[in-house]
This record gives sequence, structure tokens and C-alpha cells, in this order.
Amino acid sequence: MSLQLALKNQGVSQATLTVAVRCRPLLQAEVDADVLPITRVVDNKMVLVLEPELPPEKTFLSERFTQSMDTRQRERRYAFDYAFDSDASNKGVYQHTVQALVPGVLKGLNGTVFAYGATGSGKTHTMVGDANDPGLMVLSMNDVFELMAKEPDQQFDVTCSYCEIYNEVIYDLLAPSSGPLDLREDPALGAVVAGLSRIRVESAERILSLLQEGNTRRKTESTDANATSSRSHAVLEVTVVRREVQGSQMGSYSGKLCMVDLAGSERASETNNRGRQLKDGAAINRSLLALANCINALGKRKKTGFVFVPFRNSKLTRLLKDGLCGNSRTAMIATVAMARSQYHHTVNTLKYADRAKEIKTHVRRNHGSVAMHVAQMRQAIVQLQQQNSVL
Ligand code: ADP
Ligand code: MG
Repeated sequence: MSLQLALKNQGVSQATLTVAVRCRPLLQAEVDADVLPITRVVDNKMVLVLEPELPPEKTFLSERFTQSMDTRQRERRYAFDYAFDSDASNKGVYQHTVQALVPGVLKGLNGTVFAYGATGSGKTHTMVGDANDPGLMVLSMNDVFELMAKEPDQQFDVTCSYCEIYNEVIYDLLAPSSGPLDLREDPALGAVVAGLSRIRVESAERILSLLQEGNTRRKTESTDANATSSRSHAVLEVTVVRREVQGSQMGSYSGKLCMVDLAGSERASETNNRGRQLKDGAAINRSLLALANCINALGKRKKTGFVFVPFRNSKLTRLLKDGLCGNSRTAMIATVAMARSQYHHTVNTLKYADRAKEIKTHVRRNHGSVAMHVAQMRQAIVQLQQQNSVL
């Protein structure tokens, strides 16, 4: 029996990562400074990047560009599941990437979404957004509650947690007084943040207000706001538990949607480009480097069979392990800026996204097992103990 068939018989199906790239438009300041775009999207699938050595008149603004064979040889091309041009809205990105994962979460399947790209390329805009253009975190929650409303006979419980990994320390963005939190391995649940608060939510608006509240607590540096986002990862985890009658007993399914607004990828790609194994260092974002190494290793696994994947090297990769190779349907949104000055960041991000296309995960429905309930109770006890010690 093939591995695929064996897995299918156990209710496990194989899924490939959905990899999308989003090009952010030039900002007004860039337009004012006559910055030229060097990135172009073709057919909603392909991203073309013009090498920056070309003289400025041969950029995409030039009509001659498309006719010149010489120029065409000096462009790089990358194909993805989706490529979103500068005019795409968050809603458009959502509809082609995350929306397909949401119904599964209500049926006990896991989903993971992360935005990967250099600082200033549009990760937070895509994941969180604002009131005019809500991001994927908010849009997915709208759908969760809309889908639940279509099944009024079912009992659902929705809870969420929102934490930040900053310099390898985990902070609860919804309960700032709790201080640094530990990451522990649970036999049934995998990596869990001990004592992280889980808040029960009854509407998408509530999640939005929790996100806003949490975001005000993300570590900020007074001198440079972008330096902050370049080092901190924000992880929103929404759990939907469905309870249903199975014969004479109540059964439950628990689906988890994990959405991550990553720190800027520039340091990770710079180090990786030099072809060295990534090392810890004060100035290096260890979690992001570990993620880059895991993506590399997982990408190679398809070609060469077994490859050691260094998940244990950082908090982020321990938390994302399921999303990257375990029980999850996963979407990666790689974000790039179109400016010529961003060429190296853009190409590095596209290379990573290209490797991520090879990654496969194994999805199965999460039945509410005794081990899982025990683990959840254990977590609740830790949380209560921590609350008591704060009071
Ligand atoms: P990152 O989180 O990757 O560091 P941000 O999401 O903060 O980057 O985006 C940097 C700037 O670009 C912000 O001012 C943001 O509003 C703007 N921006 C990003 N993506 C878009 C987009 N698709 N459309 C319009 N503005 C965008
Ligand atoms: Mg950001």
C-alpha cells in the first residue's frame, strides 16, 4: 500500500503549501521621489523582476522594455499559486489564499497563514490591515462567524490567543502583566505557550478589538517604528471547538487557525545568501533565521528524501512546526516592495517563496481525544495559577 493510501485510510490527506506573492504599490513618498518599479505581475501567477544594473530608462515604465530581447534576458521570473499586483486589496488576497482554509477549521482541521517579506514590504498591512482595508486576520474571523451562523444547531466555542515573539522571548499581547512565557512540549498538543491567555470571543468585531489592543502592546522602539516590526513576530491563534452528538455521546472537533505577522526577513536572507549555516547572534533574529533554515530543509526534502529539519532551533519554528509539515493546511504570503532599491530583498523573498512551494503537510481532523482534553485542562490550570500569582 502506498504511503498516500495508508494515510488516507487514517483520515489523513496530503496538502501542498499555497504560496502567494503580493507586490505592494509604491508609497506616495516613493512616487514623489521618482522611484521606479522593477517588479511586475503577469497573469496573476508570475512575478518578473528586472535586474537593477539596467539603466533606468529600461525599467517597466519604459515601453521599449517588452520589445527588447536583451532586456528580457535580464529579468528573473518566478511562478506561484497566485501573484497579486499592486492594485490587489486585502479582500482579493484573502479570497485566493486563506478563505479556502476557513471552512475546514470549523470541521476540526488546522490552518496556518504567515506573511514573509522584508521590512516595509506590506506584511502587517496584509495580515492586520486597518478599518478601511481589514487584513487576513480580521477577514478570516468574519468568515468563521458567518459560517457558524449557518449552522445554528451546532455548538461552537471560539477562543483566541495573541502573542509576540521578541528576541526569543514570548509575551502575551492580551495580558501584558503576565510577563515572559515559557514554551513547553505537550504530548497531545505539541508546542504550547504555558499560561498564554485564551479569550472566548463571540464576534469578529471582538477579535478586531483584541487585535488592536494587542498591537498597541507590540514592542516599540521610540527612535524607529519599523525597527520594531523588523524584529517581532505576532502570532494570532484562533481555536474553534465544535461539539456534536455522536450516538449517545457528545463528541468534539477542535480546529485551529494560526496567523503570523512575521518580522522582516532581510537578515535571514542576507545570512543565508552567504551560504553559511545560520548562527545565533545578538544582532540576528534567531526565530526568523530558523524559519528560513526550515523552509530550506523542507524544500530539499522533496528532492532528496529525508532531511533533518531544525524546528527546535527557535520558538517560532517550534510553534509553526505543525503549520510547516504537520497537521495543517498552510498558506504563505510573500510580500515584496516594487522599488529598485529593494531588488535584493525582493529576489531573496521570491527565492524563499519558491522553495516553500515544495513543502507538503498532512492534514487530519482533530477529534477531541482524552489526551487532548487532559492537555487543555493542564493548560487552563497553569493559566489559573498564573492569574492567582498576579492577584
Ligand atoms: P511590514 O509589516 O512588512 O514592515 P507594512 O505592512 O507596515 O510593512 O507596510 C509598510 C507601509 O506600506 C505602510 O505604510 C503600509 O500602510 C503600506 N502598504 C503596505 N502594503 C500596502 C498595500 N498593498 N497597499 C497600500 N499600502 C500598503
Ligand atoms: Mg510589520
